[in-house]
Amino acid sequence: VQAPASTVYAAPNTPGAAVNYRPRYDNFIGGKYVPPASGQYFENVTPVTGKPFTEVARGTAPDVDAAVEAGWRAFQSWGKTSVAERALLLNRIADRMEQNLELLAVAETWDNGKPIRETLAADLPLAIDHFRYFAGAIRAQEGGISEIDHDTVAYHFHEPLGVVGQIIPWNFPLLMATWKLAPALAAGNCVVLKPAEQTPASIHVWLDLVKDLIPDGVLNIVNGFGIEAGAPLAQHPRIRKIAFTGETTTGRLIMQYATQNLIPVTLELGGKSPNIFFEDVAAQHDAFYEKAQEGFGFFALNQGEVCTCPSRALVQSSIYDGFVSDGLARVAGFKQGNPLDLSTQVGAQASNDQLEKILSYFDIGKQEGARVLIGGERADLGGDLAGGYYVQPTVFEGQNKMRIFQEEIFGPVVALTSFSDFDDAISIANDTLYGLGAGVWARDGALQYRAGRAIEAGRVWTNTYHQYPAHAAFGGYKQSGIGRENHKMMLDHYQQTKNLLVSYAEGPMGFF
Ligand code: NAD
Repeated sequence: VQAPASTVYAAPNTPGAAVNYRPRYDNFIGGKYVPPASGQYFENVTPVTGKPFTEVARGTAPDVDAAVEAGWRAFQSWGKTSVAERALLLNRIADRMEQNLELLAVAETWDNGKPIRETLAADLPLAIDHFRYFAGAIRAQEGGISEIDHDTVAYHFHEPLGVVGQIIPWNFPLLMATWKLAPALAAGNCVVLKPAEQTPASIHVWLDLVKDLIPDGVLNIVNGFGIEAGAPLAQHPRIRKIAFTGETTTGRLIMQYATQNLIPVTLELGGKSPNIFFEDVAAQHDAFYEKAQEGFGFFALNQGEVCTCPSRALVQSSIYDGFVSDGLARVAGFKQGNPLDLSTQVGAQASNDQLEKILSYFDIGKQEGARVLIGGERADLGGDLAGGYYVQPTVFEGQNKMRIFQEEIFGPVVALTSFSDFDDAISIANDTLYGLGAGVWARDGALQYRAGRAIEAGRVWTNTYHQYPAHAAFGGYKQSGIGRENHKMMLDHYQQTKNLLVSYAEGPMGFF
């Protein structure tokens, strides 16, 4: 993605800005905007300045009922569409997004606080490609025919599940929506989506761009809070699957809800990913060493609000002092500022609650004896940004048993420790409830491979980090989740297999 000519995007709803928000957004049910049954709305605040900029429907159980009902009405025809038709819809959505890339990037940044260079170059291109990937994957999918005997054949068909519920978090609002919607729609399901209450607005900006492409009722959006709108969706007796991304504690609840209906669940939950730097990284101070240094700094990507944030750095003791001091110099150079400025590398945390949570972990880390090597405070950027939710990129040094090493902080914070040898590295890396992501940095190929296989995590990046291509499986081991997202194997979570077993023999079977 080319950087656009302007370097600072104006705040939305100011002259010259890309996004013109409506003052209020309703739920979207059966192809129409519908006011919430409660009659209530909640304010949506931008983390860039801490000020409200629109209000959003406060959905409750009756809105979920209406959305599920609209989904089933639409499913009667959408569930029977050809794969070519569904693929066309996904491709058209992707095209519309691409034509409006800057507008969507500004909307996402304004809603979430993430730097616009990330939304322009990563979040949106990935979301667009995700729609295109599943448009292709669904057409390439094949059923199966088994010859049972000479006159008997078993046909296998992929059938959609029906109406599915999807609940997403605030850290990548458009990308998380895409990860869920693309495979579900490609497979022929209708969807009721509940966005996170902290970041509902960019999804409505997206919806305004694409809603004319989508048949009424195929996609329904109910906004609102977790308990008021998310729980009634996850517990709804007429949904056929629930897909959830969010905290591990909420994931446990979602799984309990799903047992009532005996429906399948996919969960993408938290993480405390280790980023391991073996000593051969520093064998030379060359381009590869610089790359590994960059890998150390990746904890600050998206302000650390990434489920796979490399929030634990493990550096081999023989190279520890030099590697860490180079790493700290790099962190000191991170440019924090207005997320709408193209040169900003670290923006704002998504909400005031998240800011408070991170600040509380600064206290926890200091109390349990960890050393702050850099950062450790709220960042005051002054001017219009004074009320925004900014935190200094922070490196703590301590031990893996500490809470800052074990609990998800979801901020630009890394907990750093050393290890002696391979076994020590793996034992520290796996000493966690989670198993979502990990990073391995080494020159030696056998070492990379052994480490990659020994770490209990669904995604191990080797000599890279934070890449999320649509065609690589993503998901958690241990308490980081159940099931996978991305990759065509994901379609299995949104389809069931119909087996038609047919006898073409004309004579009797001879049993009765
Ligand atoms: P959260 O669990 O509080 O909320 C996520 C969503 O669930 C929101 O839409 C919320 O309204 C809804 N929700 C909350 N309580 C609910 C309930 N009882 N019933 C139904 N819905 C409910 O999580 P969060 O704090 O918004 O998101 C951050 C978390 O998400 C982090 O822990 C992060 O690791 C995780 N995450 C994981 C992945 C992944 O792919 N594994 C990706 C992004 C974020």
